[in-house]
Amino acid sequence: MSSLEFIKECQEKVFSGIRISSEDAKNLFNIPNEDLKDLARCADEITRDYNGNKVDVEQLNNIKKNACSEDCTFCGQSAFFDTGIETYQLPTPQEVVVKAKKAKEEGAESYCLVAAWREPSPKDFTNVCKIIAEINEKVGISVECSLGFLTKGQASKLKELKVKRYNHNLETAKSKFSEICTTHTYQDRLDTLEIAREAGLELCTGGIIGLGETREQRIELTLELARIYPEEVTINILVPVPGTPLELQANLPNSEITRMFSIIRFLLPESVIKISGGRETNLEDSGEELLQSGANGIITEGYLTMDGNKSQKDLEMIEKIGLEIK
Ligand code: SAM
Ligand code: SF4
Repeated sequence: MSSLEFIKECQEKVFSGIRISSEDAKNLFNIPNEDLKDLARCADEITRDYNGNKVDVEQLNNIKKNACSEDCTFCGQSAFFDTGIETYQLPTPQEVVVKAKKAKEEGAESYCLVAAWREPSPKDFTNVCKIIAEINEKVGISVECSLGFLTKGQASKLKELKVKRYNHNLETAKSKFSEICTTHTYQDRLDTLEIAREAGLELCTGGIIGLGETREQRIELTLELARIYPEEVTINILVPVPGTPLELQANLPNSEITRMFSIIRFLLPESVIKISGGRETNLEDSGEELLQSGANGIITEGYLTMDGNKSQKDLEMIEKIGLEIK
């Protein structure tokens, strides 16, 4: 069977509502580069069939920056590394409301509050809840959170506050995890996802590619994401931050990035698949190709510690390729 016949056979299964097997996914991961365009095109057809032409546009607010107790080797906000990033603590609800309003006016579908800590202290959690309540009352945009580890009580409180989705990334394959973090475990991350799901929150999870993992390990992460079946997958492409152990990490070839996005689409046809950090620095076209290879979401107007594209530029890019914002 040719690569195209195999890709089409897998696509047929997806269109018939049958999940492709792990074996199929592994074989798709190993198709030769010259057949990658067919893989990407078929992934795009699945995206259109299940999700239409809409692109999910999200803006982030890094409500607590830097000096994190954890040693994640890729992260410019870890207290273990001297990255020269300014530190700040939680802003007031009023300050966040101004930014959330702006995000809504700029066409953002959702607004994600992100905090650089292992887990929220009771005092910080109370303050985050005040911020969420104020956004609900004054802005009316879908709120998402990425606040690290959660207790069951905290997850239920977020649900009560109508938080739609909780982000917590697996970061990489289980077999790679101890090389990129020693202050917590892969299981800790899985446990938080479980707590969030049990509280009724939608899940957003994914990781970072280009950490020096093998293709086998990208397959491992992809299959784990397929097992969890989150409403949203978020894939960052490593931005090597000066001062972190990964500052000299070589870029992943674009073909590996496209391959990963396309295969996630075969495995998770209904999910939002978002291109997160690293889009502007790793991709010459800033995501155009990936939005036609399985992805259907982007983050605009900057990331946690780095600037991103201005939303106008991203909206023009989306329009140029014939897609729409939600
Ligand atoms: N501290 C919480 C946690 O780790 O779950 C929440 C915030 S954490 C800063 C948000 C995500 O940003 C991480 O899970 C990681 O996937 C991503 N990220 C951090 N540094 C990155 C980098 N240098 N390049 C790409 N993605 C990065
Ligand atoms: Fe802390 Fe999250 Fe960065 Fe890890 S990824 S160092 S937990 S902020």
